[in-house]
Amino acid sequence: MANTRAYAATSPTSGMAPYSFDRRALRPDDVAIEIDYCGVCHSDLHTVENDWGGSQYPVVPGHEIIGRVTAVGQDVTRYQPGDLVGVGCMVDSCRTCSACDSGLEQYCIEGSTMTYGSLDRHDGTVTHGGYSEKIVVSDRFVVRVPENLDPASAAPLLCAGITTYSPLKHFKVGKGHKVGVLGMGGLGHMGVKLAKAMGAEVTIFTRSESKVAEAKKQGADHVIISTDKAQMKAAADSFDFLLDTIPVAHDLNPYLKCLKYDGTHILVGLLTPVEPALQAGLLVTKRRVVAGSLIGGMPETQEMLDFCAEHNITCDVEMLDIRNINEAYERLKKSDVKYRFVIDMDTLKQ
Ligand code: NDP
Ligand code: ZN
Repeated sequence: MANTRAYAATSPTSGMAPYSFDRRALRPDDVAIEIDYCGVCHSDLHTVENDWGGSQYPVVPGHEIIGRVTAVGQDVTRYQPGDLVGVGCMVDSCRTCSACDSGLEQYCIEGSTMTYGSLDRHDGTVTHGGYSEKIVVSDRFVVRVPENLDPASAAPLLCAGITTYSPLKHFKVGKGHKVGVLGMGGLGHMGVKLAKAMGAEVTIFTRSESKVAEAKKQGADHVIISTDKAQMKAAADSFDFLLDTIPVAHDLNPYLKCLKYDGTHILVGLLTPVEPALQAGLLVTKRRVVAGSLIGGMPETQEMLDFCAEHNITCDVEMLDIRNINEAYERLKKSDVKYRFVIDMDTLKQ
């Protein structure tokens, strides 16, 4: 009998179904965690359906993990059984390159080991993520979850939170900046809350009229309906930063026009080629920049959780019974979730 119950996809079209496998025995620096909650990120769906190519089946997705420590390896001093902890998108890296040395493990020169669908650096097995009852992770890739955060609604901070926090911090977003967030989904709604807490004036760009009132409730100062040409035109030359969470290929040019000179368009959602092509003139004539950003490093992930605890920030979540994960994916495809599904892992054990 395998020691861990989970849900997995066995092909791009299989859908998700119960699956079991063995988690490894503790290595000296390992932490064993019983998972209470796991967020459902759009990356899970991209990987399950092999949108980016290279998915390794079976895929056990999930990289927004919160749970309690159940055991620690002999060298672990930072955590002990009972601690509330989180695991995000990475579970290992080379730990010696300049990026790892700087706490930017996501940019590890050898490539970091992702929480699911990567090869474990020590035993070569494929990593499995948080749609499972437990996980075993090296302590460097475990963060402490402040006890004043509600664990279910804090789970998505481990990916949606850090992916939006990291570029906002890197580009020193703060008071006096106008920030636009493109797409109001899991990442987008966190981008609004975090940019607001950092002091920026925030505008959400959405296709969905139905999200306008909620965007304002979450702190957005303004809302632009991105499909309304007049509204887009009126926004020309007005933003310092755009944080783009749109998960599919889309035309960047109308958004670039909304940046001031020296403005920066930060891609976090778009992992596929840009289509149609960028109009270079829009960059050259205003010294505009197109940038990208990948999750965040481990020290920064802890900093983000502490920042959220201090500012009382969590995600807006819809609790999910894991048996309904296939329906949840269909709704995610339609941008019909407000704003993150979080799996209650008790439902895996029923
Ligand atoms: P969601 O599906 O929750 O949100 C994406 C939002 O984008 C939707 O709610 C919708 O907002 C908008 N959108 C969706 N489809 C379209 C479309 N065809 N045209 C225009 N807008 C659209 O996804 P997540 O927030 O979970 O993830 C967003 C992207 O970020 C994914 O591609 C994911 O893989 C990626 N990602 C990147 C990371 C990184 O490190 N860079 C880390 C984690 C995720 P609205 O209804 O308001 O228009
Ligand atoms: Zn994610």
